[in-house]
Amino acid sequence: MPHSDCPPLPTAGTPSCFPTPERPEGDKADCFWQTHHDELRDHRSTSELPSHSDIVIIGAGLAGVSTAYHLTKDGGSSKSITILEARGACSGATGRNGGHCRPDFYGHIPTYMDRAGDRAGAEIAEFEIANLRALKKVIERESIDCDFTLARSVDVWCNEEAAKSAKAVYDRMVAAGFDYMDDVVFYTGDQVEGICGVKGAKACASFTAGTMWPFKFVMHLIKKVLTLGVNLQTHTPVESITRDTQGGYILDTPRGRIHADNVIHANNAYVSGLLPEYGKNIIPCKGICSRITVPEGTTAPLLNNSYINRTEDNTLSYFIPRADGSIIVGGAAKLFRSHEEQWYDNVNDGVLIDSAKDYYNGYMQRTYRGWEDTGAKVDKIWTGVMGYSFDSNPHIGHVPEKDGQFILAGFNGHGMPVIWLAAQELAKMVSNGVPFEKTSMPRLFQTSQFRIDRAQAGKVEDGDILGTGNFAATKP
Ligand SMILES: Cc1cc2nc3c(=O)[nH]c(=O)nc-3n(C[C@H](O)[C@H](O)[C@H](O)COP(=O)(O)OP(=O)(O)OC[C@H]3O[C@@H](n4cnc5c(N)ncnc54)[C@H](O)[C@@H]3O)c2cc1C
Repeated sequence: MPHSDCPPLPTAGTPSCFPTPERPEGDKADCFWQTHHDELRDHRSTSELPSHSDIVIIGAGLAGVSTAYHLTKDGGSSKSITILEARGACSGATGRNGGHCRPDFYGHIPTYMDRAGDRAGAEIAEFEIANLRALKKVIERESIDCDFTLARSVDVWCNEEAAKSAKAVYDRMVAAGFDYMDDVVFYTGDQVEGICGVKGAKACASFTAGTMWPFKFVMHLIKKVLTLGVNLQTHTPVESITRDTQGGYILDTPRGRIHADNVIHANNAYVSGLLPEYGKNIIPCKGICSRITVPEGTTAPLLNNSYINRTEDNTLSYFIPRADGSIIVGGAAKLFRSHEEQWYDNVNDGVLIDSAKDYYNGYMQRTYRGWEDTGAKVDKIWTGVMGYSFDSNPHIGHVPEKDGQFILAGFNGHGMPVIWLAAQELAKMVSNGVPFEKTSMPRLFQTSQFRIDRAQAGKVEDGDILGTGNFAATKP
């Protein structure tokens, strides 16, 4: 997985899986993206909660707000919609991530091919590429000011063995005949360092990806959906959901209760707080990210590709350059993986990850040609909470055994290339009753009792993860 290298298989459920309170000013000030002031961040459309809403969306991150957009755009739904958000809008992973929208062309795709057949793997890559194009379109159509760029994303391997393995994966994907691999170019040999600019690079590859300011994107969508009648209630955590004997559900919050016909769980890492059956499927895991700047008056060598860099010792960092000359870079999971108490099953995004917090000091000088004397230094550093999924795939669709409840969560540190289109397809399921199988979503994304049980049983992900008995299943 590109943004959080080698997630572990979750083994434990989370007893209390709710967002931690934001520290006054602290969280906004630490995270570069949220230093952008937007008055809607703490917005409440009405002073009281509505007593009923046809649809309640839990979570105002990219997933929840994109779903609201797709439900309302072009007057698509006449249903009343309320978004309940525990903290400020876009204060979760979306407001704290790396800003990298990077489809998976080959990273995890071979694993999915091995588990469920070539087509099931390719569906994911194709969906993520389509998601990037759809994002570009909506940003242009709605004139969204979010620093979007369509760039080449460069994968770099500085370890000889890892470079060889990567080349083998690339060759396998080309041999499989997937059209989209035409956009990938792979380099080995003496020229690699000169092509990617990374010191000691042994191999590199590149393909099309996007970069953006996710907080600005989401806040723009919020502004839009509010004009279309959506009711946003920030600082309103949902504490429990119970079935109403008259039909629908009652959601309890510290500000009172609200009745809903449909509930959409778009609270990613925190899903198991309200749906304990997902406790072993989606585990909250912390990641770290930073912004590096150069001193005023200094011009550092221009970098206009995004990167996934792996050092000689295979420490992975994701990286996007910004037009203002700064760099957003994070990752370094290798440094903290063995310190589980610092990041695993952990929702405390107000505390840095101790064993990685100094890693990005001097990172540009160590890593990129020509940056040695730039004086580049960490300007801001923050953490965020991802929803690691047992089988690495998100859970999307009807919540089993809970008629009228839907889920769009568990993005495994890789939500940006998935969420926009997935929200569009989920909106069709919620408002028009379209079955999952008739949407364009990859079948491995469908939530199911089978996947829930599989995680509960802690089964190793080595085979028939669709539960079809067919290891090379093709989409019906
Ligand atoms: C440090 C870091 C770097 C990352 N970098 C990248 C990257 O570069 N590219 C990429 O693709 N992905 C990246 N990710 C992952 C990506 O940010 C997520 O996949 C994506 O933002 C998930 O969006 P979401 O809307 O599902 O979740 P979130 O943005 O977390 O939104 C969920 C919301 O639900 C709210 N909530 C939770 N429980 C409740 C409740 N009970 N009641 C009400 N509200 C509730 C939360 O407060 C939160 O605002 C990164 C994540 C982190 C943490």
